[in-house]
Amino acid sequence: MSGFQNARSIVEAVSTGATSAVDVLSEHLARIDEREAEVHAFNLVLREEALQAAQQIDDRIAAGEVVGPLAGVPIALKDNLCTRGIPTTCSSKILDGWRPPYDATVVSRLANSGAVFVGKTNLDEFAMGSSTENSAFGPTRNPLDTSRVPGGSSGGSAAAVAAGFAAMSLGSDTGGSIRQPAALCGLVGVKPTYGAVSRLGLIAFASSLDQIGPFTHDVADAALLLESIAGHDPGDSTSIPQPFPSLSESLTRGVDGMRIGRIVDLPAGADAEVVASVDRAFDVLASAGAEIVDVSIPAFTYGLTAYYLIAPAEASSNLARYDGVRFGSRVEAPDTNSMYMATRGEGFGPEVKRRIMLGTYALSAGYYDAYYGKALKVRRLMAEDFAKVYQSVDALITPASPSVAFPFGSKTSDPLAMYLCDTYTIPSNLIGHPAMSVPFGSGEQDLPIGVQVLAPEMGEPTMFAVAAELERAAGGSHV
Ligand code: GLN
Repeated sequence: MSGFQNARSIVEAVSTGATSAVDVLSEHLARIDEREAEVHAFNLVLREEALQAAQQIDDRIAAGEVVGPLAGVPIALKDNLCTRGIPTTCSSKILDGWRPPYDATVVSRLANSGAVFVGKTNLDEFAMGSSTENSAFGPTRNPLDTSRVPGGSSGGSAAAVAAGFAAMSLGSDTGGSIRQPAALCGLVGVKPTYGAVSRLGLIAFASSLDQIGPFTHDVADAALLLESIAGHDPGDSTSIPQPFPSLSESLTRGVDGMRIGRIVDLPAGADAEVVASVDRAFDVLASAGAEIVDVSIPAFTYGLTAYYLIAPAEASSNLARYDGVRFGSRVEAPDTNSMYMATRGEGFGPEVKRRIMLGTYALSAGYYDAYYGKALKVRRLMAEDFAKVYQSVDALITPASPSVAFPFGSKTSDPLAMYLCDTYTIPSNLIGHPAMSVPFGSGEQDLPIGVQVLAPEMGEPTMFAVAAELERAAGGSHV
C-alpha cells in the first residue's frame, strides 16, 4: 500500500467538515509541486480551476448542502476525455490548440458527485501503446521507480494516483490500458463491461473495444468511482439501457462457494514471479472457500493477433477525421491534398502512423477477408469459448501484465515486444466483458504485480468480490 489517503476517507472528512476540500487539494498540489517535474504524469495541471471547485464544495458544505459521494476528492482525467474549454490533446500534436465544446459524460457525472479535477494526464498518443513512451509530450515515469515505465496507455493516470497527485483517476482501456498500468504502479484498475460506462466525450481509438474506467488505491474506491460513472447515457448508442448493479455488497461477500477458473491453455510469456503470484492467488481463493476449476479457452492465444488487426482497422477509420480542417493543427500547403498529407505527416507520431497503415491494409480490398474478416471470426470464437466456460465458473484469474514495470526504452525498438504486454488483457475487450487488475504480491526490485480477475458481461459484482478477497489476503485496505 502506498500510504496515501483513500477517497472514501477524504469524502468522509470533507463531508463532515473535519477537513476542507481546499486543504485536501492543497496537499495533492504540494505533492505535484514536489515530484511532477520528475514524474510527468500530467499534460496540464488545472490548479486554478481545481482550487475554485474545491472552494465551492467547501462553501456548499458550510451552507448545509449534501455535495455528493465524491465530495472533495481530487481526480485526474486521462487527456483523451473531453473537458469543455480545456485543451484535450490525446498526447498528440495533431490536436494542438483544440478545446472541446463539451464535457464527456463521465466528467459531468464526476463533477456532479463533488469531484475536483486536478489535471489532464499523459498517455501514449491516441492511447496506442503500453508504456506511455509514445506521447508527443515525452514519457511519464513510474513513481515507484523512475527508471521504469508506468505502463500504458493510461500511464499518466496511473502515475498520478501512485504519486499521490490525485486520489483516483480515470483512464481508458481498449486492450489493457487501464489494467496494465494499474498492475505496474501497484493500483486497482478496472475495465468495465462494454456499454456500462458512457463513452460520450471519450476520443475514439477503436470504438468496439474502448471503455473508460477507474484507477484507485483499493477495491472499495474502485467500486465508488465506477458506481459514480456507470449507468445508461442516451448520448452513447452503445450504452446499456439498464441500471448498473450495486457493488457495495461485493466488498464483504467473500468467495465462499464460488467457482473460479484456471485457464490451462493460457498463452505462455508471463515471468515466473508473475506466474507464482497468480498461483498464490488461486491458493488464497481456495482457502477462502472457492472451488478452483481447470478450464480451456483455446481462442485466448489468438486474441493478440485478432486485436492488432481489429484495433488498427477501427483506428484508421476513427483517425481519418484529423485532416487539418476540423480539429487542431494544420500545416499549410498549396492544395488540399498536400495540406492533408502535410498535416497528418507532421501531426501524428510513428506508432499512430503504423496503426493507421496496418489498419488501412487490413481493410483494403483483396486483404479484407484474409485479415480483418479472419480477425472477426477469432473474435466470435473467443466469445463462444468464454460463454462455454462461464457455464461452469463464476470468474477467472490470470496475470494482468506478463512482467513488472520494465525499464525505459527496453521495448521501444521492437513493436511486437510492446504488443506482447497485452496478451492477457485483450480477450476481455474483444468480447466486451469486465476485467480488473488488483495488486497481489511483488517481484523483481519489490515492484508490484497485478492479478487479473475476469467475469462475464455485467458480472462486476462477482469480479469485485473476488478482487476484494485477494486484496484482503494481500493485506490491502479493509472495508
Ligand atoms: N497496448 C494496447 C495498444 O497499444 C492497448 C491500448 C489501450 O488499451 N488503449 O493498442
